[in-house]
Amino acid sequence: MEKQQVLVLGAGYAGLMAALRLAPHTRVTLVDPSPAFTERVRLHERAVGRPDITHPLDALTRRAGIVHLAARATGIDPAARRITTDDGRVLPYDRLVYALGSRTADPGERAYTPETAAELHKRLLDGPGELTVVGGGLTGIELAAEIAESQDAWQVRLITDGEIGAGLSAKGRAHVRTTLTGLGVRIEEGRRVARPEDIDTDAVVWATAMTANTALAEAAGIALDPGGRVRVDATLRSVSHPEIYAVGDAAAMTTPAAGALRMACATAFSSGSHAASSLIAETRGREPEPLRFRYTAQCISLGRRDGLIQLVRADDSPRETVLRGGAAARTKEQVVRSTVRVLRLAARRPGAVSLIPGVG
Ligand SMILES: Cc1cc2nc3c(=O)[nH]c(=O)nc-3n(C[C@H](O)[C@H](O)[C@H](O)COP(=O)(O)OP(=O)(O)OC[C@H]3O[C@@H](n4cnc5c(N)ncnc54)[C@H](O)[C@@H]3O)c2cc1C
Repeated sequence: MEKQQVLVLGAGYAGLMAALRLAPHTRVTLVDPSPAFTERVRLHERAVGRPDITHPLDALTRRAGIVHLAARATGIDPAARRITTDDGRVLPYDRLVYALGSRTADPGERAYTPETAAELHKRLLDGPGELTVVGGGLTGIELAAEIAESQDAWQVRLITDGEIGAGLSAKGRAHVRTTLTGLGVRIEEGRRVARPEDIDTDAVVWATAMTANTALAEAAGIALDPGGRVRVDATLRSVSHPEIYAVGDAAAMTTPAAGALRMACATAFSSGSHAASSLIAETRGREPEPLRFRYTAQCISLGRRDGLIQLVRADDSPRETVLRGGAAARTKEQVVRSTVRVLRLAARRPGAVSLIPGVG
């Protein structure tokens, strides 16, 4: 396997995990424009002024022997097995791991990203005013709570076309409503808005559906599902290009227990690790195993002092059991911290990661 060159596109939870697990077995180049890994699940903390939610990539990759190329992939040529980058390089590969993640689907090209979270912070410093969060899913809920709790100068409104926290149990949803209202958030459910310009407010954050970053895959003729994610088999190989693996938010993954996997940190981690196992098996002439994944809980922060841990069945449907309040906030913080701990472990002892339940 030493002669194989694996290119991993994207150093998010999925791509970084795949790269770290592959590093002892093959030559790995990780392509991502950023010098640091961004804890994307902390973007709302960045928006209210947490100084840093990043970790230098070097500290994780150098020790593992991974080459990090700080560039943006601009094209994939599957026939020639090479990619191009925005700094004019052409990189050949034997196997490609496509891990370019997702962004919020924004009608005005103002996706909710690390850069826009930093801009939002600057805007909040210019207060007072009213900020409207559009989207009543977990991203919108976490952001609205964080801002309402910490930014006294701002009145927060949350608009959603359906019910807030639609995937939660009745008890979980009630806790979200009560906590947000207690923080002063004005909730407008059942209202659909098409564009930020349609809302009379001082600032808007669009936090509706996520969309996969698969423009490069589509341009290369790699098969996508109707939702725009790369179609993969149970071992996470592209169904149209078996030399390409797709993981994380960019891939349309299904498991027998969980069904179609939603975009999430947990599924990104698990799929990144699993694609590495598949690739290692493939090059050793063994049959790769199918991905096994089942959900256990959804962890939601409601500011720094409150939270919700919603227990779910294997298929992500909510159970009635929830943990609320300060204990839930502390649990959520530990879960978020554990993601960075697992990446550090993967850099030190890549094989150990496959033993962690829900990751390997
Ligand atoms: C505000 C917010 C809160 C969230 N909270 C939670 C949560 O509590 N729990 C949870 O499970 N999930 C949460 N999520 C979802 C979770 O963050 C994503 O599912 C997860 O980040 C997906 O990981 P990924 O590796 O597939 O993609 P990403 O983390 O998006 O990483 C993609 C990487 O690709 C890089 N990239 C993009 N384009 C290129 C290119 N052309 N060339 C090279 N590199 C490129 C990017 O720089 C990035 O490093 C949240 C998301 C947001 C936005």
